[in-house]
Amino acid sequence: MGLLVAKFGGSSAADGIQIRKIRSIVESDPNRRYIVVSAPGKRFDGDNKVTDLLYLLASHADHNAPYEQLFQVIKERFLGMESDLGVAVGIANEFIIIEKALKTGAASADYLASRGEYLSAKLIAAFLGFDFVDTAGLVLFSGKGKFLYEDTNAALAKELAKHERAVLPGFYGSVPDGSVKTFSRGGSDITGALAARAAGAAVYENWTDVSGFLMADPRIIPEAKAISHISYKELRELSYMGASVLHENAIYPARLAGIPINIRNTNAPEDSGTFISADDTPAEGSVITGIAGNRDFTVIGIYKNMMSNEIGFIKRILSILEDYSVPIEHIPSGIDTVSLVIANKFLEGKLGDLIEDFEKKLGADSIELFEDMSLIATVGCRMASHRGVAAKLFGALCKAGVNIRMIDQGSSEMNIIVGVETKDFEVAIRAIYDTFIGGQSGE
Ligand code: ADP
Ligand code: ASP
Ligand code: MG
Repeated sequence: MGLLVAKFGGSSAADGIQIRKIRSIVESDPNRRYIVVSAPGKRFDGDNKVTDLLYLLASHADHNAPYEQLFQVIKERFLGMESDLGVAVGIANEFIIIEKALKTGAASADYLASRGEYLSAKLIAAFLGFDFVDTAGLVLFSGKGKFLYEDTNAALAKELAKHERAVLPGFYGSVPDGSVKTFSRGGSDITGALAARAAGAAVYENWTDVSGFLMADPRIIPEAKAISHISYKELRELSYMGASVLHENAIYPARLAGIPINIRNTNAPEDSGTFISADDTPAEGSVITGIAGNRDFTVIGIYKNMMSNEIGFIKRILSILEDYSVPIEHIPSGIDTVSLVIANKFLEGKLGDLIEDFEKKLGADSIELFEDMSLIATVGCRMASHRGVAAKLFGALCKAGVNIRMIDQGSSEMNIIVGVETKDFEVAIRAIYDTFIGGQSGE
């Protein structure tokens, strides 16, 4: 087995108990030379993730609200970990620096949020006896905030070559003037994949709190089975559609370098977890590989007689959306109708004006709005070669009393997406799971 890059998520870095588990995992294989860590996550139900506290701190500071108590809670959490682990990395000093940045207005939200990973990596590096390698200056963004893949790869490769063993903070990098910039939430997965590519790892291990990628979100289907092997393609569809275990953008660097990703459980290291690779030979067993979904969509239905004969109609819709900087998720269409499926977060404060513009500029017969919609993706390489999958899927939803508002099937034929009302979201996932997977082969 060659070199391994291991990324440990927030639950794995939550406290001294979890970090001791990291140490025993790292020490059990000397090939685990580069470790990427998240900020401490929840220690128990109802606990706070450090990153959430740091964003809260940033918004307090931004609104000139008192933040001292919150600052103290975060500081004490790290001081407690430093003393529990018996290391001395100068946490008190680090908080003097953070406080100064807060007081002088130099602390951006990205900078504050990044301190979770930064301090976590400092503590874990000292505890493992590994070098600490900061990712500011190595994970590189342009001045406009565009992520620079190749520059990052070169900078990381050059730096890692100088260290036999190192711990790196996930989640952030920097722009050319040196200011910190973070990825989106869950972005430590991306840093892990970048480090794996730069180091030429044999495997990118992603250690979390579940024994692999499960066929459905365990918060909805508690008995969801683990997937032993899945292709990058299928995983990307599932991650993009809401299976939050791995950041969707963590797949690209690993796929580019042909490095398999292995999702593992820090709390059950004996489990082999899920292997993700380019191999898309359909596994035996269930026709579908997994189900994922996302709440919080709006569907705008536009109806116009003879729409399909009207050249440039879709173009006009798209250009109005562009004026509002609103991206669309899907555009299923019929002869006289087109539906626009849009994530709610892009419509905040714009929906009323957007509809008004559509009414003015499209000459539509009617425009209908379906708010509180959810999308559910049923994904699997084997679906293309099996007849009747869609019929079975729609039958299951119908039997469960779920009204399907939208259907879209990707041209890859490995993904069927349905739009349902959010009140039916969990019932729909349960119905699909039980029909294709629940306790049988799914044939
Ligand atoms: P980490 O802190 O290790 O990065 P995350 O919270 O980002 O972990 O991801 C792990 C969580 O993802 C699991 O605890 C689980 O609740 C959730 N999850 C959602 N969908 C799935 C899925 N299909 N398979 C496994 N876990 C899933
Ligand atoms: N700590 C960051 C977050 O909670 C990044 C990560 O954990 O991957 O989003
Ligand atoms: Mg995560």
